Amino acid sequence: MPILSRRDWLRNAGMGTAVLSFAPGLLSTGLLAEEPRVPDHSRNNVSDEDEIALGNRFAAELEKESPIVSNSTIDPYLNSIVQELASKSQRPNMPYNIKLINTYDVNACSLPGGAMYCNRGLLEVVTSEDQLVATLAHEIGHVVGRHVINKIMLSFEAKALLKPVLDNLHKKNGVIEKIILEMGGAVAMLAMLHFSRQDEAQADLLGFYEMWRAGWDPHGFVKMFAMLDKIEKASGGINIPFLSDHPPTPERLAAMKHELTQVRIPSDARTDSISFHKCKAMAHFLPAPPPKPRKPQSKG
Ligand SMILES: [Zn+2]
Repeated sequence: MPILSRRDWLRNAGMGTAVLSFAPGLLSTGLLAEEPRVPDHSRNNVSDEDEIALGNRFAAELEKESPIVSNSTIDPYLNSIVQELASKSQRPNMPYNIKLINTYDVNACSLPGGAMYCNRGLLEVVTSEDQLVATLAHEIGHVVGRHVINKIMLSFEAKALLKPVLDNLHKKNGVIEKIILEMGGAVAMLAMLHFSRQDEAQADLLGFYEMWRAGWDPHGFVKMFAMLDKIEKASGGINIPFLSDHPPTPERLAAMKHELTQVRIPSDARTDSISFHKCKAMAHFLPAPPPKPRKPQSKG
């Protein structure tokens, strides 16, 4: 499938050839940075407050099903990256946070409202900070683009459960938990979201600009895709959840390379850090992951 041109993406995003208006500083550099502008409302007009409430319910269920692991070095490090990226996103006021899941599957995912998860496996395969930052920026892009909340609402709609979900969102009566359980549990529901190729490409672009504005070198996207592509090929088609529902890696790689021609990267843009390597070293001392659950991994 051909990669959509910048104009196609802008048209699909309903923004014509709009220039990102909240980054006037970019214009003073003489560059015309463009980025998809995301709609300011979700499908079904779910408010931010409702999205956050639903995300909290999903997070609680996901954490019952997944081996969350805490580490006093890794947790603050991951959270500081997420806060920096989110503050430079088009949706900076959501309660973003990130936790580590003790599994070797190479993946990261985000929930409505900004709760995020990074698998230990991802931390172990990335070789420099910018690759990790690109992955997390992509996940923030899914929250910013309201892809996660929209897809989850669609899943509820498909089962005629939207009304009971919205009616009980702020009630602690067990209804939401029962619905999530009846739909297979939080992890299975997230695994079946199937973001569209447009959502994935938009999350890449949104992430690219978050990363760039936050002072990292967005070549990290290219490095991350190249690394994942290599792993995928070397393993003879291992299922990397982060890639399995995404456009083929070479296409995403080409799209990011194109985007790199559109911006000026400062010479001091960040690519790596001592903190990153400390965290990678620390990951070796985490307890062994518990036996792998039979349920599918959530998609990134
Ligand atoms: Zn994605």
